[in-house]
Amino acid sequence: MRTRIYHITKFQDNSSYIFFNGCNWDCDFCIMKRFKYDIHLEKEVQADNFKYIDVETLMDILLQNNIIEVFLGGGEPTIDPSLPLILERLKMKDIRVNLLTNGELLNSRIVSLVDRISFSIKSLDENTHFMITKRSNLRSIENLKKFFNEKFTFETVYTRELGCRNVIEIAEFLESFGKNLILRIDPLIPVGNLFTSPPEYDLNECINHINSRYSVKAYRIKGKGKNAVVLYP
Ligand code: SF4
Repeated sequence: MRTRIYHITKFQDNSSYIFFNGCNWDCDFCIMKRFKYDIHLEKEVQADNFKYIDVETLMDILLQNNIIEVFLGGGEPTIDPSLPLILERLKMKDIRVNLLTNGELLNSRIVSLVDRISFSIKSLDENTHFMITKRSNLRSIENLKKFFNEKFTFETVYTRELGCRNVIEIAEFLESFGKNLILRIDPLIPVGNLFTSPPEYDLNECINHINSRYSVKAYRIKGKGKNAVVLYP
């Protein structure tokens, strides 16, 4: 079966990032509008046409390269009709699965087949959410309430314009789901016209503020990330 996967990388710890093309949202600062391929690569991938691979080829690539864990992202993996089949194949081979998603198209089957879900919340304010993504957040939040379990972690993007208030609202909201939930906060990388990168100091202050007042564990990734090599194309 054909997938929407067009790019696969491998890290030194035998994990792999798998890129799905396309998304049901249209975020102003979506990194995919600027970097279609893994930004951790030393040499930029040059590929004029996307060649989507099928599920069998995906599994061959992963098994031949001794992959033990995958991160499904991109892009939004849940728009791919082949996702449930991919998840079943990964499970059969005991490959640990992390799904990065905006949550709008989550369902119980997908939730049951993955090991961890990194659930992205851009904003809880409907107008702000619409400004960022051109979509309502209602269905994603409904899905979060319906499917939330111990597999869920969270992520958001910190922008200069929305500041810490937007992230505090998310942290307060997450407190209603449980204690010590994990919230990754990424500083915006400039892409669109509406939002810009925050000052370093603001973001660090915000993380300290959240960790001192809420049980939510806020953190950010520092450095350039893990070295990656290309497995596909
Ligand atoms: S939800 Fe994620 S993948 Fe989709 S447009 Fe927004 S940033 Fe991009």
